[in-house]
Amino acid sequence: MSENHSIHEFDVNLIVEYFSKIERQGPGSPEITLKALSFINHLSENAQVADLGCGTGGQTMVLAGRIPGKITGIDLFPAFVDLFNANAKESNLQERVQCIVGSMDDLPFKEEELDLIWCEGAIYNIGFEKGLGLWRNFLKKNAYVAVSEASWFTEERPEKIEKFWMEAYPGIDTIPNKVAQLQKAGYIPVATFILPDHCWTTHFYDQQKIIQENFLREHTGNAFAENFVAYQRYEEQLFRKYHEYYGYVFYIGKKI
Ligand code: SAH
Repeated sequence: MSENHSIHEFDVNLIVEYFSKIERQGPGSPEITLKALSFINHLSENAQVADLGCGTGGQTMVLAGRIPGKITGIDLFPAFVDLFNANAKESNLQERVQCIVGSMDDLPFKEEELDLIWCEGAIYNIGFEKGLGLWRNFLKKNAYVAVSEASWFTEERPEKIEKFWMEAYPGIDTIPNKVAQLQKAGYIPVATFILPDHCWTTHFYDQQKIIQENFLREHTGNAFAENFVAYQRYEEQLFRKYHEYYGYVFYIGKKI
């Protein structure tokens, strides 16, 4: 989900409404969440975990199935937070899995309080280097960070896709450069792996297709809603055409 601070609050509400209708607000899958978790040492019942930019909690509920400790989701948008907490309740996880409204650059945790910081498809909102730098303070020594982030797979790529990303998220970079940023931010790079294409197609774009027609019908004549859906469709077309040049990569680091 992309942010643009110049858009009107009403339009933000439309974007939130659109993404509330699907289980995830970014590329990913339950299997990939568990794969990333497999690189992280066992967490106990006393573990304190934060899931930043958690959205409606698709990945958080998967984590909660494996991590016995407390998980706090943080998201900027109250509508996502409400849906997250309803999902947690439905799975009877509400005692230890809770979401609060907040910003990932102003976290409510104490220094060295957390055993794990999770962030799927959301660190771009404040930038990879900035996020990793800020979040380190809240982690215990030897605790982990796991984030998925848009990355280039090759040194060079067609101009059209380069231009698209320079407008959408100029922080996109190659995997070795991102790993170097992780290391410079004070973490041991434990693992990196590329999310398979179906995390974008089956789990993200196909889910949107199901809800797009209804969304357009409900907002007939609303130019923002029409442009927004057109943009999501364009983004999908680009992904299908240029997917060998970029994608999401999981980066897992251990605080030194
Ligand atoms: N992790 C979820 C959602 C990814 S979409 C998933 O993978 O499905 C990005 C999320 O970041 C959205 O839910 C958006 O509301 C949230 N977000 C944007 N800016 C934020 C900020 N500054 N602090 C916290 N969350 C933010």
